Amino acid sequence: MPPARFQIGDTVMGRWPGSNLYYEVKVMSFDNKTRLYTVIYKDGTELELKESDITSVVIFQTAGRSRSRSRSPGRSPGRSSARSPGRPRRSRSRSPARTPRRASSRSTEVRKEKLKEVLEVRLTPVAMKHENNSSNSKSEKKEENNTAKAAPVVTEEKTETESENQTGGRYNLRRRKDQGDGKAVELEKAVESEPLLQTKAPAAVKTADLEFGGRVGVLFLMFLLPVAVLVLLILCGQKDASLQSFPLELPALQSVWDCQVFGIVLLWLLFQAVLSLLPVGKLVEGMPLKNGKTLKYRINGFYALLLTAVAAGVAVYQEVDLSYIHAHFLQFYTSALLIATLLSIYLFIRSRWASKDELAPGGNSGYIIYDFFMGRELNPRIKSFDIKFFCEMRPGLMGWVLINFAMLLAEMKQQNLENPSPAMLLVNIFQLLWVIDGLWHEEKLLTMMDIMYDGFGFMLTFGDLAFVPFTFTCQAYYLVNHPNELSVFWIITLIAMNGVGYYIFRKANSQKFAFRKNPSDPAVSHLKTIPTATGKSLIVSGLWGFVRHPNYLGDIIMALAWSLPCGFNNLVPYFYLIYLVTLLVHRNARDERQCRKKYGSAWEEYCKAVPYRIFPRVY
Ligand code: NDP
Repeated sequence: MPPARFQIGDTVMGRWPGSNLYYEVKVMSFDNKTRLYTVIYKDGTELELKESDITSVVIFQTAGRSRSRSRSPGRSPGRSSARSPGRPRRSRSRSPARTPRRASSRSTEVRKEKLKEVLEVRLTPVAMKHENNSSNSKSEKKEENNTAKAAPVVTEEKTETESENQTGGRYNLRRRKDQGDGKAVELEKAVESEPLLQTKAPAAVKTADLEFGGRVGVLFLMFLLPVAVLVLLILCGQKDASLQSFPLELPALQSVWDCQVFGIVLLWLLFQAVLSLLPVGKLVEGMPLKNGKTLKYRINGFYALLLTAVAAGVAVYQEVDLSYIHAHFLQFYTSALLIATLLSIYLFIRSRWASKDELAPGGNSGYIIYDFFMGRELNPRIKSFDIKFFCEMRPGLMGWVLINFAMLLAEMKQQNLENPSPAMLLVNIFQLLWVIDGLWHEEKLLTMMDIMYDGFGFMLTFGDLAFVPFTFTCQAYYLVNHPNELSVFWIITLIAMNGVGYYIFRKANSQKFAFRKNPSDPAVSHLKTIPTATGKSLIVSGLWGFVRHPNYLGDIIMALAWSLPCGFNNLVPYFYLIYLVTLLVHRNARDERQCRKKYGSAWEEYCKAVPYRIFPRVY
């Protein structure tokens, strides 16, 4: 048996499993039997590599020197310094506010294209060591630069590459779904260092882990959800809203279907679509897709809300009776449900022509029912009109506000009030604030799970077009027929509760967004962090050190403040609160599973430092 080529303590270049990218590693030991070297990366990640995956540092230094010689002398120094590993990491939001890129030469563009095409992979390390449990901002930045050199990665789906590259089940390769600039530097190096490092085309992904109980589970949900919403609306609308009023009487067909209402819903969608296409508001790039490209999104939701408010004002001025929405609420719901279903059928059919890299990781199982529910295509578009982005923020959210307003008018009409009741006003104002906030920060949606990973199928079309506008309004709908007096004490308490919830929700989301955009931002650089092998860090102080999902906690506190104005006579107006807690607990579990995969032992460390997920001392 030939002796080991590399000695313990040697600094060499180790291939990142599943890729052609090499990083500096130190040889820790050599197993003569398996012929595997245990190597350690700069961030402390230990791996076992085959001899063929290790090469001498000298080769890379040669490649690096020849590369710098071949560089165009005219290349701007500003540009090369912008590529330095020490610069802050690229914003996840790709906000147009960031420094504009300089015009680059054709060769730079080609190189950038190649860079984008590199298949980025990661591995969950066999063992990871983090000597620093937490760090202040300075050491954090240093850590980030170091760890960035040991490939960052992220993903949820198994790739073909992944299974190909597993070595005795010890490697867990995952395609990266996020990028830090530290990594980009390495990739650039990788592309430039031909012929050692070559690009690889992204592999097709097949969904292996089925969620929501697989095919049977989603089939069940597809029937249960629409029926559950219908039951909720019937209960909220009838005088006796208690759960004891079961079994409910089946509503007559004409009370659940009306062609005119269907037409109004279609017009509403058209109106919102036209508003979304108006050339006002900034045009931003979304997160990089699997193929390295990015899509552009028009951020004008807030303007659309203002125009919608103007349109509603004009309608009231013209004596259009908006309480018609209340009187035909079930019909509005069934129309929205039908449209959501037809839209998901259309999306499923058109996804057959989508290319492999346009498919969502979670909706490509090959099972029709499952994929129909989860959504096959990630970003279905008709020219520049992004159907998912539109549905996520516009018709549902604006519809929610408009319906609430219609309920307010219906309450005044039904109860002969000159002014809306304080309970109705609070519900309207609190929820309007939430919607304004969402639309004001519309751009941040681009980094959310729904946009980045979830396909657009029945789950989201139903959620966006039917569930959100018809269940989130259940408190206002309930109050029309079930007035509830509020004392001044209660009014103040509810305002304070909503304020606290909003503060936690907004601060946590903004802090994380700012940190991910630029960890050295003065607004967040004081926060303690835990470095991870991916080059990103986890905030471990402030709100993110209080519980692991403070933004969920804030959202839930607000939901409570929205339900309490309805009093304690019935459970029905608490539907939204119950739904939100269930959703966020499930979402938290889903997110934590992914974070554990992404960050390995660093995530465990975070969980130890911050033991509670959402509710301090409870959960
Ligand atoms: P988050 O915004 O909480 O995003 C989770 C991600 O944040 C993780 O995957 C991780 O991603 C990053 N992260 C987690 N912990 C840390 C940490 N300590 N430091 C830095 N980064 C961390 O989740 P959602 O997208 O689910 O929620 C966004 C908001 O939307 C929430 O406020 C939620 O309440 C709200 N929401 C409301 C719903 C409703 O129906 N009302 C429905 C769904 C969401 P990475 O490390 O890759 O950046």
